[in-house]
Amino acid sequence: MYKRFYEFGISDEVLNALSDMGFEEPTQIQKIAIGPALKGRDIIGLAQSGTGKTAAFGIPIVERGTRLKKKNPYAIVLAPTRELAVQVAQELNRIGQNKGITSVPIYGGQSIERQIRSLKKGVHVVVGTPGRVIDHIQRKTLILKDIGIVVLDEADEMLNMGFIDDMERILKEVPKDRQTMLFSATMPEEIVRISGKYMREPEKVYVDAKSLVVAKIKQLFYEVREEDKIKALTRLLDVEDPSLTLIFCHTKRAVDDVSGQLRQMGYDAGSIHGDYTQSHRDDVMNQFRKGNLDILVATDVAARGLDIPDVTHVINYSIPQYPDAYIHRIGRTGRAGKSGIAITLVTPREYRQLRFIEKFARTTIRQANLPTRDDVKKAREKELVDTLEGTILKGSHSRYFPLIEGLLTRHSPRDVAAAALSLVSGDLEVDEIEGSAKLHPSSDQGFTKLFMTIGRKDNIKVGDIVKYVSAGTNIPGRKLGKIAIFDTFSFVEVQADLADKVIGALNDMMLKGKRIRVQPAKEKIA
Ligand code: ADP
Ligand code: MG
Repeated sequence: MYKRFYEFGISDEVLNALSDMGFEEPTQIQKIAIGPALKGRDIIGLAQSGTGKTAAFGIPIVERGTRLKKKNPYAIVLAPTRELAVQVAQELNRIGQNKGITSVPIYGGQSIERQIRSLKKGVHVVVGTPGRVIDHIQRKTLILKDIGIVVLDEADEMLNMGFIDDMERILKEVPKDRQTMLFSATMPEEIVRISGKYMREPEKVYVDAKSLVVAKIKQLFYEVREEDKIKALTRLLDVEDPSLTLIFCHTKRAVDDVSGQLRQMGYDAGSIHGDYTQSHRDDVMNQFRKGNLDILVATDVAARGLDIPDVTHVINYSIPQYPDAYIHRIGRTGRAGKSGIAITLVTPREYRQLRFIEKFARTTIRQANLPTRDDVKKAREKELVDTLEGTILKGSHSRYFPLIEGLLTRHSPRDVAAAALSLVSGDLEVDEIEGSAKLHPSSDQGFTKLFMTIGRKDNIKVGDIVKYVSAGTNIPGRKLGKIAIFDTFSFVEVQADLADKVIGALNDMMLKGKRIRVQPAKEKIA
């Protein structure tokens, strides 16, 4: 297998560009994809996000490109979102900088006239969202007759976003004699079908099918009530002290709500979702990239595929609906071999959803305890002291010296300093989270009876059941009610609000060499 970029036999121009970009050696997917792609083979590339798929197809595109003779593009890349189209075009332009290969992004939301102008001037590579590409095809402002390379980037995402028909339509428009490359983090049925229909003996390059999640991402979840999420979030932000944090919410409204609340509490938070204009989205993204904003709150759509190098924390404020979305979201951290932390806030009733995600993303998400009020207070005090000392080092405080001299004639330095601090430190106090009450509900709450397909014949005892439940859920034995064991099945009572959690943890599990089912028993108990 190839180990270094020069071993692929690529041109000095591209090698120099790669070294300018800081790419020292190929990533895993690049190692296995670039060789066959350079030979013109069709490629199906499957690798988790953040593994360098762009360059895996970008280098062969640029290498196989010829300087512009015709005005029509020779390659087209389809990408699911405008942000991604922009990002991929940027990376292609960097790879192609010394070879004079140019790429332009075309996407909805940007003035179509501007795109028509740049297409008219002639470009080598078009990177577009499927909808806008079709638009240009219909207007005859994008001519596909010289296309020799087609790339479907983040194919699974394009599928999720409903672009499947557009994709097929574009695949039908391009010349038959071409190279087709498809990259994806997952391989749903429809994508397999498309590849069978539109690709010729594709070389399958798969990386690390064992886990779909980058190993360097630490994955945690916190159990909180919906109404305590904001407080939980700020505790985490205060204590974890992340450099750049990406927060995902399920709806646009939640994005506005969360980012608004964070700003009110003094965090530098921006937000993006589909309702904002493109220029606003670009602006916010740039601020975030540069670190002028510490926090970006976004919907899945807006943040799809974004590559921001220094995101240390991804926080799922709302739990993703599908395992794929989870993989994509948390793939925004731990980029290019760096480490990252992915945090998911889970309400008790979402517990099964979490287990479902774990199972299908083939990963483990550990439960952690929220920082205590004391932890947060210490973190805030440290932040205050750090800021203060930073100000002293910068020397920008000296203009207050005359004022202080005056004060010091009447008060002690200690009083003056403490009074000054008290003016800014109102937020050292930390809100209580009653959410913990949810985990220890009042005892008058009802129990739910669960039915388990394991019994005396399987050699199970009451103690075993208590042990399995607490190992799988952290629910202590005292939260369980009556346990009744019969020949081939058992009944277990658990506090009603914990029932989902127990089912999520135990259903389908192997116990005593047997796969068991757990479900609510038919009758309810008081
Ligand atoms: P993917 O499409 O697989 O999610 P990207 O192509 O966006 O991943 O790459 C993730 C990050 O890794 C980008 O910042 C990219 O510039 C960087 N990268 C890609 N290949 C290399 C490499 N060979 N060496 C160093 N960084 C790389
Ligand atoms: Mg990508």
